[in-house]
Amino acid sequence: MLVAEDVADGRDAVVVTARTPVAAVPCPVCRTLTAKVHGYHGRTVTDVPVDGRQAVDHLRVRRLVCPVLGCRRQICSRLSAGSRSQMSS
Ligand SMILES: [Zn+2]
Repeated sequence: MLVAEDVADGRDAVVVTARTPVAAVPCPVCRTLTAKVHGYHGRTVTDVPVDGRQAVDHLRVRRLVCPVLGCRRQICSRLSAGSRSQMSS
């Protein structure tokens, strides 16, 4: 489910800016509810035409982190951050 933040009516396209809801979601590994945001990444998707014009959706997708110490989900995000810094040095 998405929350529409803004709808801009352009000449050739209808641009919708949307984000995922702020509500907590369960960790896929341990099922603990989390709303701890690690960061956002943007995605642009082209939707079905509206009134014969192109509809473009800008999505802000949250990346969540599990608050439970030792959870595989949390360890995974730390490992990937470490391997990235190793590659740049
Ligand atoms: Zn977890």
